[in-house]
Amino acid sequence: MSELHHECGIAAVYHFGQDRISPLAQQYGPGRVSRLIPRMLLDIQNRGQLAAGMTTYKPFDKDLLLTHKNVGLVSEVFRMGRKNKYQKLMDQHEGPAAIGHVRYATCGKDDPSYAQPFERTHLEKRKWFAFGFNGQLSNYPELRAEIRSQGDFHLARETDTETLMHLMSQEIAETPEIDLRQLLTQVSQRLDGAYNITFINARGQMFVSRDPNGFRPLCYAERDGFFAAASESVALTNLGFEPEEVQDLDPGCVVIIEDGEMRIERYAPAIQTSHCFFEWIYFANVCSRLDARSVYLSRKVLGEELALQERESTVNAIVVPVPDTAKAAAEGMAFSLSVPCLEGLMRHRALGRTFIEGEDREAKARMKYIPLPEVLRGRRVFLVDDTIVRSTTMRVLVDQIRSKGGAAEVHIRVACPPIMAPCFYGIDMPDVNDLFAPRFAAQGETMTPEIEARMARHFNADSVRYLPVDSIAKALNKDPEQLCQACLTGDYPTPAGQRLYQLSMKNFSSNGPSGRRLVEEEVVETALPPARL
Ligand code: SF4
Repeated sequence: MSELHHECGIAAVYHFGQDRISPLAQQYGPGRVSRLIPRMLLDIQNRGQLAAGMTTYKPFDKDLLLTHKNVGLVSEVFRMGRKNKYQKLMDQHEGPAAIGHVRYATCGKDDPSYAQPFERTHLEKRKWFAFGFNGQLSNYPELRAEIRSQGDFHLARETDTETLMHLMSQEIAETPEIDLRQLLTQVSQRLDGAYNITFINARGQMFVSRDPNGFRPLCYAERDGFFAAASESVALTNLGFEPEEVQDLDPGCVVIIEDGEMRIERYAPAIQTSHCFFEWIYFANVCSRLDARSVYLSRKVLGEELALQERESTVNAIVVPVPDTAKAAAEGMAFSLSVPCLEGLMRHRALGRTFIEGEDREAKARMKYIPLPEVLRGRRVFLVDDTIVRSTTMRVLVDQIRSKGGAAEVHIRVACPPIMAPCFYGIDMPDVNDLFAPRFAAQGETMTPEIEARMARHFNADSVRYLPVDSIAKALNKDPEQLCQACLTGDYPTPAGQRLYQLSMKNFSSNGPSGRRLVEEEVVETALPPARL
C-alpha cells in the first residue's frame, strides 16, 4: 500500500562535550559531526522523499548558521552520487552541531523554499535561528487567519512551518531574556496538533522537542558529549549507539543543549498521550523501535492476529504480501497458519518516484506491481496488505493476480481496521469522501460478513477481512488509551482535530465537494480564536 504519505522526519547532532572526543565522533572529529546528518536522513527517508536539507552551526565562520536544502531525495540533494561534489558540500557545511530534515509535500512540491530547515537570519544572534518540523498544526487555519488579520504581517507560503517560524520569532523578539524552555512553553500554548521540532540558533543553542500528545516518534542518545536525535531509532543505532542507549523523548519534553551541557526538561503539562498507531503498522522503518516497541514485531503480531481470525480453508493456499510494508504481517500470518509466504507480487524497482506522464492512479498501480504466475497459478491466495485507503490499488492488484497471475482464489486480508476518517496530525490522508471504507460502513459500525461480502464484490475478490480495532493495541503492546486511533474511530484527541472532523463529516454527508480546502475555509469562518498578536 503506498497511498499514504508522511509529512516529514527530523534529525540533529551536537558534539557538545569539551573534555574529550566521543568514540562515536572519532571518524570526523568533534567539530565536524554535521557530516553525519545526510546518513541519518537516509535512514529516515521513508518519512519524506520530496525534499531534504540541513543547517549547520559554524561558530568560527562568517555564516554562523548555514543551510543547504533542495527538492529531491537525500542522495540527490546532497549529491551523494558524485563523490567530489558531496565532499565539497560537506566541507562547506562542517560544524560541531547540525539539524536535518526530510519532507513529503502536500503543497510547494517543486519549490525549494518549502524544503526545511527553515532559517531566519538576523543581526542579533539570539534571533537568528533555523528549525525543522515534523507534524501538522491542526489549528493552522486559525493561526494563519490570526496572523493575517494583524495587517502588517504577510505569510508567503501555504504551510504551517512558516506560521510556526513566525510564532517563535515573535516570542523571541518580545521577551529578550526568554530561555529555550520558556520559548516552547509560550509557543505550545497556541498550538494544537503534532509538532516535533529540531532547533538551532546562532549562539549554538539547540533544542529537540516532542509535542505534548506525542503523536510522532522522537528519540535521542548521548555518549561522552556526543548527542544525536531523530524521528526514528534506526538513525541512531546506525551511528553506533547501542539500542539501550536510545531513549524515547517523553511527550511535552525537550532536550536542550547550551553552554556545553545537555538537559531534559518538561515544557508543557502532561496530557493524554496519543501515539499515532500508523507509525508502527506502516510509516516507520521496519528496523526502528518506537516508544519501546519494535516496528517489525508489531507488524508480525498483526499478521498473527489475522491468522487467528482465519476461517477459509488453507488447502493449496499461499500468503502473498503487498510489497513492501506488509511483509512482516504476511510472514506472521503465514507462520501461524503453516502455509508458505511467497512473493507473488513484485514492486517495479526502477519506477520509484518516477514521474509517469498522463497516467491515472489505476494505470500507475498497474505499472508499479508485477504478478508472478510461477508463484500464483492455481493457488488460493491470501493477499495481505497493511491497510486500504482508497480502493484503486487493491482493485488493480486483485485483477492482476487473477488475470496475469492465474490465481484460483484471492482473499484480501488487511492487517489494520478500516480507515474511516481523515488525519489532521501529519499524515496526508484523503478526505472522508475519498476513503474506501466509509462508503460501506458507518462510523462505529461493527464489520459484519455482509459488509465484507459487499467489499469483496467491489474488489472482485473471494473475500475481504479486516482486523478489529482492539488488535492494534494488542500488537503494539500498548494501552489503547495511549494511542491515537482517530482515523479508525473518529475519536480525535485534540479540540482542533474534533472540530475539523465535524466539518469533514458535514462535508461528507452533504455530498459537497471533497478535499481539505473546504474544511479549512469553514474552520476559519466558524472557529476563529481571539486574536493575540
Ligand atoms: S488520525 Fe490516524 S494517522 Fe492521524 S495521527 Fe491519529 S492514528 Fe495517526
